[in-house]
Amino acid sequence: MCNKDLFIPLSVPVMTGNEWKYIKECLDSSWVSSAGPYVNKFEEAVCKYTGAKHAIACMNGTAGLQIALILAGVKDNDEVIVPTLTFIAPVNAVKYLNAEPVFMDCDDYMNIDPEKIEAFCKYKSEITDKGLRNKKSGRIIKAIIPVHIFGNPCNMVHIIEIAKKYNLKVIEDATESMGSYYTEGVYKNKFTGTIGNLGVYSFNGNKIITTGGGGMIITDNEELARKAKYLTTQAKDDAVNFIHNEIGYNFRLTNIQAAMGVAQLEQLNNFIRIKKKNYELYKEKFKNIKELEIMEIPEGTSPNYWFYSLIINREKNVRDELIEKLDDRGIQTRPLWYLNHMQKPYINNQSYKIEKALWFWERVLNIPSSSNLTEEDIKKVTETIKDCYEKNYINRWRRAL
Ligand SMILES: *Cc1c(COP(=O)(O)O)cnc(C)c1O
Repeated sequence: MCNKDLFIPLSVPVMTGNEWKYIKECLDSSWVSSAGPYVNKFEEAVCKYTGAKHAIACMNGTAGLQIALILAGVKDNDEVIVPTLTFIAPVNAVKYLNAEPVFMDCDDYMNIDPEKIEAFCKYKSEITDKGLRNKKSGRIIKAIIPVHIFGNPCNMVHIIEIAKKYNLKVIEDATESMGSYYTEGVYKNKFTGTIGNLGVYSFNGNKIITTGGGGMIITDNEELARKAKYLTTQAKDDAVNFIHNEIGYNFRLTNIQAAMGVAQLEQLNNFIRIKKKNYELYKEKFKNIKELEIMEIPEGTSPNYWFYSLIINREKNVRDELIEKLDDRGIQTRPLWYLNHMQKPYINNQSYKIEKALWFWERVLNIPSSSNLTEEDIKKVTETIKDCYEKNYINRWRRAL
């Protein structure tokens, strides 16, 4: 069975920079909690890297999304347009505010499909003096959450156009796409997360850079930035007398985590460089097998190559059996998330023409994508996948051809 020495995990963090040094500084100075210089340093470093005007550190990406939704004006009984194909966090964040998600299909890169958002706004909703009203539910649609899936940038040009036309706020879930940017068009050289009204990054252990757990809200709007800091730090209006005029949250990031974040961010460009090289290696190695294809990247973008998706253009059970067979041989792989419009808490929520998401959900296999994968690792992964696939699923007569 599986020899652990040869085990190649789906994704592990890489900590080869100044993590020890900066965290030791926190411990030596006993600035270990939510005050201390590294929180500011980390926020400034994120602004500098992404070009965002303001960055507000918080305890994780999900909390950041919740605050961003509050700042976008989402309230009880409003609706928010979300992709069905995503990790569930942004969908839950909508529900934390007692608002309802409406599920959209994806495009050819697994990102939310702007064509369908537009059709939904045009044919299934109507403009009223209170805002865009969903004809079926009667609720007001307040915002869209585009998620840059696996680091591939969404079609923000089209999404922003729709948002302007229908007066919707845009909260970019850039938790998987830190370091991804556009290379052409209106948003040339803009990073994902910096285009909507607000953007959110995550520094969970599986993300491209990590603080163990952590997040960052970013915006160019000074008023929203001030409010984000206020709400994530218990809404304190008078620090001496403890006056709170609103209900705040304890969503702060600690100094230790921020110290780690500064060290990780120093390495982000190098991680992306390695990930890009490995993406190209994977692509090359799967080139000559018809049913196995590495997902393309969207034109006019420079993604962070966070996760690699292998499309297995066969029946779903082929993909599912492969996961087990590969696990036995020391290669960890995973299917896509179960689609959110089919998840138990959301089964009664509205969804709109979900087609492509189902197609991808049956076929995608995420393969090892850590930033420290060597050429040797890639060779082992690809050869094992090819071997398992050919042995089990390609007929003898076809192989003989
Ligand atoms: C990881 C992730 C989040 C949540 O980030 P946490 O820091 O884990 O709370 C939100 N959305 C997506 C799409 C994610 O992948």
